[in-house]
Amino acid sequence: MRMYNTLTRKVEEFVPCCEGEVKLYTCGPTVYHYAHIGNLRSYLHEDVLEKYLKYIGYKVDRVMNITDVGHLTSDGDEGSDKMVNSAKKEHKSVMDIAKFYTDKFFEDCATLNIRKPDTVVPATSLIDDYIKIISKLLDTGYAYVNGGNVYFDTSKLKEYYVLTNHKEDDLLVGVRDDVTEDENKRNKTDFVLWFTKSKFEDQELKWDSPWGVGYPGWHIECSGISLKYLGEYLDIHCGGVDNIFPHHTNEIAQSESYIGHKWCNYWFHVEHLNLGSEKMSKSKGEVLTVDTLKAKGYEPLSYRYLALSSHYQNKLEFTFENLSGAQNAYLKLRAKVLRLNREDGEVNQEMFDKYKKQFMDAMDDNFNTSMALTTVYDVLKADTNDATKFHLIEDFDRVLSLDLTKEMEKKTAENEDEILKLIAERAEAKKNKDFATADQIRNDLLEKGIRLIDTKEGTTYEII
Ligand SMILES: [Zn+2]
Repeated sequence: MRMYNTLTRKVEEFVPCCEGEVKLYTCGPTVYHYAHIGNLRSYLHEDVLEKYLKYIGYKVDRVMNITDVGHLTSDGDEGSDKMVNSAKKEHKSVMDIAKFYTDKFFEDCATLNIRKPDTVVPATSLIDDYIKIISKLLDTGYAYVNGGNVYFDTSKLKEYYVLTNHKEDDLLVGVRDDVTEDENKRNKTDFVLWFTKSKFEDQELKWDSPWGVGYPGWHIECSGISLKYLGEYLDIHCGGVDNIFPHHTNEIAQSESYIGHKWCNYWFHVEHLNLGSEKMSKSKGEVLTVDTLKAKGYEPLSYRYLALSSHYQNKLEFTFENLSGAQNAYLKLRAKVLRLNREDGEVNQEMFDKYKKQFMDAMDDNFNTSMALTTVYDVLKADTNDATKFHLIEDFDRVLSLDLTKEMEKKTAENEDEILKLIAERAEAKKNKDFATADQIRNDLLEKGIRLIDTKEGTTYEII
């Protein structure tokens, strides 16, 4: 299996530290708001990564953090804490907010068939570990106390910018308008490990520490959680590209200074979802969520199909038009697979192996999910029996998780005669190139919870 490694900027053969086992860490959500479908794109590709590792026989040990404290709107002691902001706005305690949005996050993940990692750790649960790490960093001279806060001293490192290009990062800091220089820092790139003096005094969650009552910085939580649950040698660390700097850069700085050797071998980063014209204003509280997709009548898994159609390292343009296209393709595909007669003879092993190899070649090539999807179509067209096709697609779906072979509960609408009549009317309208009427019929039915599926063999419906 070959994968792109942000650390080496190359596609490399993947070799885990321990044979047959993969230690995988994923930066989790900051639970102060609903998860945006753009954030979920990262989790979706990380899910494919985990499932593919298991598919090819690895035992995967995966850990994810939940940021329920210390994620400021900026990296310095500036702005305000996202959790506290939400708590105030919603008149709830910070922990209630965290619980509510954590549950909602995993509900959205489940809707998109994103598996919940075995170990999910709230940042607030490991305060003593962060204190232990910070104390050692102070003892060994990698950290200093100034103005009441503990900072990591980036000038003590041989190389700080290990994940990215130095100049680009400097530029990045320069253009971020929410960052003003913290005068307590010795170097521009130093970052806070522990806050006791905060400009906002209403921080609800505080703990005692050798440096006074306060709370941890954001970066230290991922190092602390990863080191505690996965040990000192990590195989793959995942996140969105926006995490590369400063978050992951800082994680490497503090983790490796603490343990005294290289920490993680492979860094896997998922590109942004580009919302273009569909951009919603987060400040107005409008966030494009899985629920938004559902409310607009989309089958949520068509978003998974859309994401898998593009490479995780490419920006993905999101428009509702694109999603509609993906949904049409997805529903047609699912309908085709479900029409296969799985009892149709024995599995042809030669054909099975041939297409399984094609699927694995695609995935081994830096997770080319779009080629993997193409293999599903190739299987459907293949010169073999239905049983072979069905079992191949069932096998691929362990990774793709598109419910391609899951028998849907075929619900018959009470007013089926009426629906069939409308389907016929729509077909007639389409034949006469009266697309306005055809669209109208489709949309009217959709509003009543009936979704039409067009296939080569005609139109069927499903209840949503
Ligand atoms: Zn993280």
